[in-house]
Amino acid sequence: MTKKILVIEDEDQVRENILELLEAEGLLPIGAENGATGIDLAKANRPDLILCDVMMPGGDGYGVLSQLRQDSALAGIPFIFLTAKAAKADFRQGMELGADDYLTKPFTRSELLSAIATRLKKRAIVQESYHSELKQAKQQLNYWMHHDSLTGLPNRLSLREKFKQIKPTNSKDKKIIAILCIGLDRFSQINDNLGHAFGDLLLKAVAERIITSVTNFYSIIRCNADRFILILDNIEHKKDAIAVCEKLVHSFSQAFTLKNQEIFTTASIGVAIYPRDGSNIDQLLDRANKALFQSQQQGGNQYQFYSAVLSIGASDRVALQTSLHYALERKELHLYYQPKVNLATGQVMGAEALLRWHHPERGIIGPTRFIPIAEETGLIVPIGEWVLQNACQQIKKLHDIGFPYLRLAVNLSGRQFTQIDFRQKLVKILTATNLHPQYLELELTENILVENTEIAIRRLNALKALGLTIAIDDFGTGYSSLSYLQQFPFDVLKIDQCFIRNISENSPNAAITKAIIEMANNLNLKVIAEGIETKEELDFVCQYHCDIMQGYIFSPPLSAKEFKELLISGKSLSCVH
Ligand code: C2E
Ligand code: MG
Ligand code: MG
Repeated sequence: MTKKILVIEDEDQVRENILELLEAEGLLPIGAENGATGIDLAKANRPDLILCDVMMPGGDGYGVLSQLRQDSALAGIPFIFLTAKAAKADFRQGMELGADDYLTKPFTRSELLSAIATRLKKRAIVQESYHSELKQAKQQLNYWMHHDSLTGLPNRLSLREKFKQIKPTNSKDKKIIAILCIGLDRFSQINDNLGHAFGDLLLKAVAERIITSVTNFYSIIRCNADRFILILDNIEHKKDAIAVCEKLVHSFSQAFTLKNQEIFTTASIGVAIYPRDGSNIDQLLDRANKALFQSQQQGGNQYQFYSAVLSIGASDRVALQTSLHYALERKELHLYYQPKVNLATGQVMGAEALLRWHHPERGIIGPTRFIPIAEETGLIVPIGEWVLQNACQQIKKLHDIGFPYLRLAVNLSGRQFTQIDFRQKLVKILTATNLHPQYLELELTENILVENTEIAIRRLNALKALGLTIAIDDFGTGYSSLSYLQQFPFDVLKIDQCFIRNISENSPNAAITKAIIEMANNLNLKVIAEGIETKEELDFVCQYHCDIMQGYIFSPPLSAKEFKELLISGKSLSCVH
């Protein structure tokens, strides 16, 4: 590619000569007659090299260089001073600011060209090594994201891919697949009593035991903490799955010997069968988990197949479902706002709207309890509309009292997103509240999108055409890799708090988080770190150039009134950035 060379020189004749000379060499020269224009052109054109005069009216070349060096996108561009001044002190000043070379006028054509060639070559070497590091980081990230660092087993990210591979494409295919969710009984007690290091040893030993006890090699995945998933895809009948379950439960009857200590633990299993219990992996896992929970509730050391009546706490759910019907009209739903802070400035730049249900008898109920019920019953549609309407109204009010830059993020559930007229309703709300779409961000989780990729992309584009932004929420907790999600037109990536939790320089999470941030930057996505609770976590995300943070260390979700008070108080975050 033709190299772009920016020439900042106030003397027209000198500048024109250099431009001509460079053009004759097949380079692409750009001329600027003063420092300020030079900086603007550097930003707009990202040249491969800059030649800059030192003495210029209205700001010298040192000022230009120090400004460029502060801009991370421009700081790496080779910079050569051209000057008539040859005093040693000037030379040092330029070099200390980070100039790459210093040519004293008058210079010959070959001096100039050789200085340019040397710098371009050096830059090419640096870029090449950067690209190969990036490639390596991508490969590593891909491996880490697909494997569990403790046991070396594939993790749940691999699960979706595996399931896609084995799921029959022909509906006439009578193949069945069993998903076994294996959990250790009372594992948390072992962890608490014997320590996490011992718990980790046990988990490794458990992984080995599962592998050796299922002789026909099936896919084994470590799902999280003490959960393992086994996929049986070469079975013909439910009884084959029963045989594997019995064998597995039995295999735990022998003690584990760890650090010369014998320890007994039992395991329980929940089973869901494709296609009977579900057609997609999310549904199957959910049901296998429910069955596992049931096994453990009944004392553990056993297995259970999912059945519809298993639904946990069914009566409680029904009661909540009934009262949720009235929650909206009884004004029991409230929106809280969790501030989001720009890490470059420390200022509050917006908020995420989060639902709370003030239940008259049960007190405050969090969204993780009632949103799934609202989803199942379809109540999420009116509730979601109410959320959008209220949140937009609230932010608009804050715009009007002196915070016109505030951005609002609203969570969107699957059912809302797939509604045919969702976009239309959204436009209506934006118009009614007079909120410009550029201040609205919709947060979606990947499970909403992966079921029907094409339609999801179309819908996202239609929403984006309104001028709003789209964020992928809880990134890293699902089953898709960033390279898969890349096909969706996101603007923002929210790294889930499970990656940030207890992060320290050397933890595997730190490596994953760094790689995610780097890749997101390459894809031009803004990165939000969620759930920052400690100073260490904050320092980490600042150091690795996350754009925005959200977390208890700055503020929990606040009522509308409290959020307004926080804004008025001017509270800000001091950060290492
Ligand atoms: P989310 O969108 O990932 O929201 C972030 C959650 O993390 C919130 O939980 C927030 O209170 C919590 N959080 C923030 N900072 C910290 C921290 O430093 N430490 C810890 N431990 N937690 C922190 P919340 O409010 O319970 O919401 C849970 C989920 O419910 C949300 O996850 C979102 O998926 C869903 N949700 C909330 N409001 C709505 C809504 O209006 N519509 C829909 N569809 N879903 C909603
Ligand atoms: Mg969210
Ligand atoms: Mg989240």
